[in-house]
Amino acid sequence: MQYRRNPKNGDMISVLAFGCMRFKRDEKETERQIIKAIEMGINYFDTAYIYPGSEATLGRILSKGYREKVKLATKLPHYLVKKKEDFDKLFLTQLERLKTDYIDYYLIHMLTNLEVWQRLVSLGILDWIKEKKEKGQIKNIGFSYHGGQQEFIKIIDAYDWEFCMLQYNYYDEYNQAGKNGLLYAAEKGLPIMIMEPLRGGKLVNLPKEALSVFEESKEKHTPAEWSFRWLWNQPQVLTVLSGMNSQEMLAANAASASKAEAGILTPAELDLYGRVKEALNKSFLVPCTGCSYCMPCPQGVDIPLCFSSYNETATSGKLHSRLNYILRTSGHNASKCVGCGLCEKHCPQSIAIPKELKKTTASLESFPYKPMSALVKRFMRQ
Ligand code: SF4
Ligand code: SF4
Repeated sequence: MQYRRNPKNGDMISVLAFGCMRFKRDEKETERQIIKAIEMGINYFDTAYIYPGSEATLGRILSKGYREKVKLATKLPHYLVKKKEDFDKLFLTQLERLKTDYIDYYLIHMLTNLEVWQRLVSLGILDWIKEKKEKGQIKNIGFSYHGGQQEFIKIIDAYDWEFCMLQYNYYDEYNQAGKNGLLYAAEKGLPIMIMEPLRGGKLVNLPKEALSVFEESKEKHTPAEWSFRWLWNQPQVLTVLSGMNSQEMLAANAASASKAEAGILTPAELDLYGRVKEALNKSFLVPCTGCSYCMPCPQGVDIPLCFSSYNETATSGKLHSRLNYILRTSGHNASKCVGCGLCEKHCPQSIAIPKELKKTTASLESFPYKPMSALVKRFMRQ
């Protein structure tokens, strides 16, 4: 196993982290996998309040003599916080479930824009964090992120964070916070944890055209390994989460992680990723790479984010995509486009942006977009 130093506090963190979103029903088997992962050198475990049964299962397992061997990360479900007392209520439940009296890495779960953070500030989260840190109950405070690049930068600048977690992989190089967000956070000295390295499995089950690009390489790797190597190649990445629920997957990922050096990819190998992306784009509705050359839009439309949500409708279903679209675009949605055409001449993919934004609006802002949006906003505010 390779380790990287957290630039903020000197912690040595394994480059491969254990994502605990979905455990098997068989707790004995989960216990065997977690112990095996620790023996293999994995020392970062990430769970959340809302992952069903995860905190309690992890707590039971780690309490058998493993708690001090690992760094434990869990997340505050800010959408359940309605008043200041809720911070403590949720946090104490988490300590109880995890059978511990401190959390090494505590994240505000799923921030999508500055407004969400400001709501928490107005409820007194700054004093609450200060108190928890003084008591030693929270060692490092950070957030996980799922919005666009502009809002990410605002959130980074809004507080003295100690780490952050991004959705990042070679397909999403320019989506969400993307590479620019990663570099911005790293410049500020933040360690960066990575989630969704395989884009929910989509980079494992590649279409034939994409797979054949990787097969040209002399170096042979599985699609998952190619994905991990692209991330570990970047020195700004501290650790990559993987939800490993079989001994085989654990062994394969740990073997890749033992060779996880920054700067390991050759220019020829880096070139392959671009071509795999091109092949993947052919299976999408709009061939947007998320490069952001078309930005900023004077009307505030987050063009790459709108197109990534529209593309998601082809792979993840309408309801899921619509919900993500509402959460991520908030005020930067496709229907704000007035068709001025300013963006279009900057697009290297020659995408007819206003036309495609119209299709995005028709697909994602048709009924029940408005009531759903209002409900989500009310839920977030409350
Ligand atoms: S065409 Fe639409 S998206 Fe492009 S710059 Fe004008 S308003 Fe923005
Ligand atoms: S310039 Fe084109 S490819 Fe790049 S983000 Fe904008 S629409 Fe997508």
